[in-house]
Amino acid sequence: MRDDGQRRRVQANLLGSGIITILIGLGWGTAFVHFQRPFLAGMHGGLVVFGIALVWLAYQGRLTAAALLAGHVFPAFIAVSCLFDNVPEGVHRATQMHFLSVALGGYFVFRRGGIYMKYVLPALCLTGFIVFSNTSIGFHDPALVIPESAAEIGVWTNTLTAMAELIFIVVIMNADLSVRRMMDIEMRKAIAHGDFQLHYQPQINEAGKITGVEALIRWQHAKMGNVPPVKFIPLAEETGLIVPIGNWVLRAACAQLAQWETRPETRHLTMAVNVSASQFRQPDFVQSVSEIVRLSGVTPSKLKLELTESMFVDNVDATVAKMNALKAIGIVWSLDDFGTGYSSLSVLNSFPLGQIKIDKSFVRDMLTNPSNMVVTEAIIELASKLNLQVIAEGVETVEQLNRLREAGCMSYQGYLFSPPLGIDAFSKLLSPEPSSAEPLTRHQPEPFAPDLAPAAMICPSLS
Ligand code: C2E
Ligand code: CA
Ligand code: CA
Repeated sequence: MRDDGQRRRVQANLLGSGIITILIGLGWGTAFVHFQRPFLAGMHGGLVVFGIALVWLAYQGRLTAAALLAGHVFPAFIAVSCLFDNVPEGVHRATQMHFLSVALGGYFVFRRGGIYMKYVLPALCLTGFIVFSNTSIGFHDPALVIPESAAEIGVWTNTLTAMAELIFIVVIMNADLSVRRMMDIEMRKAIAHGDFQLHYQPQINEAGKITGVEALIRWQHAKMGNVPPVKFIPLAEETGLIVPIGNWVLRAACAQLAQWETRPETRHLTMAVNVSASQFRQPDFVQSVSEIVRLSGVTPSKLKLELTESMFVDNVDATVAKMNALKAIGIVWSLDDFGTGYSSLSVLNSFPLGQIKIDKSFVRDMLTNPSNMVVTEAIIELASKLNLQVIAEGVETVEQLNRLREAGCMSYQGYLFSPPLGIDAFSKLLSPEPSSAEPLTRHQPEPFAPDLAPAAMICPSLS
């Protein structure tokens, strides 16, 4: 998960790189046309096209595609430019200077990527810089060489543009660092002052009854207002603050669950809690969860811990062992955002899961994109064959709901029923009249007929 602010800074970096590329391509392309070096002019024409593609992708927000393209095309272009050297003897080439900005920019953009993008690519760029700075390796075709005075201007231009690129990247990295530092301090204060809250989003069964909730963290900041989790959870994951935050979430969720267990009308409710990757990887994760659950006194089978597919990629045995240890005390594992990760369907078989959550992107596009519908149906069928519960998240329309029901999915979560609510609003949703504690089918024989708004059924106050 990348936070919004960082996304914007990565986008600025890629847009800036694209624009600089276009300018460099145009400048050098024109110079090579002037010196009648068609090969080099063509190469720089290609660079302009690449720069335009980069700007377009970054502008569209397709940052991963833009970054992958840039991460490979830039070093390749610089290497080829160095090899087809056009400076006369006695003039030092300077094209390799651009390797420095690509290495630094790549490291920044791919900071949260895998080892290859984060370390190998920058390392290759630095190697390129060292090799081309200290050797005269290359083809040295006399037909490509340009006049000495022009080559000297070229050396200066290359050095200055490479420096400008470096300054641009450092400014963006610095802005990124300041924001992250500020957010880190604010999060620490929020932990100390108890500024985090939990909101609860109902989970509904096919009879329209609330069977449980997903606990979602909320941060009401005095100056920044309501800070959504996508803005601070990724950062908390990076800095390790997710561990105290995650423990707080678990304690607060269990305390709420314990309260619900004391009342007949809420005793049936389950509580889903999100667990982030770095929290799960803590060596004492099993111990601290067991302890929190034990101290709260809740029935462990009412607690569902949500993991995402990305956590199943490495260290399979350790992951299974942790999951089994908590499953043994009754805790249920739910696989969140199912369908968005890279792992294969074998995940469903290899890990002790009790539930899968169909990701909201499938639900959103289900009615407009037939292949999404096919995938959704396949997930539901597979889950039923493997004896896994299946819940669809992000259900926003009656049409989506009806389609999911037809496909065999019998649990739902989404704005159609209710947004995540603070505890008071959620209690109101549960308590008025006999409505929500009892199956709605008692009052509505066909609860999800397309002309009925389910929100109105589970929440009389919304009707
Ligand atoms: P998630 O676990 O996939 O949670 C569902 C998100 O979808 C929530 O966003 C929820 O408000 C939103 N949502 C619910 N119904 C609908 C709908 O019908 N349509 C759409 N478009 N969205 C819907 P929220 O609360 O902003 O949380 C975002 C993410 O932040 C969560 O995604 C989860 O990954 C993370 N998160 C939230 N709370 C916690 C927490 O306590 N711990 C950890 N580790 N992560 C959390
Ligand atoms: Ca979730
Ligand atoms: Ca989800």
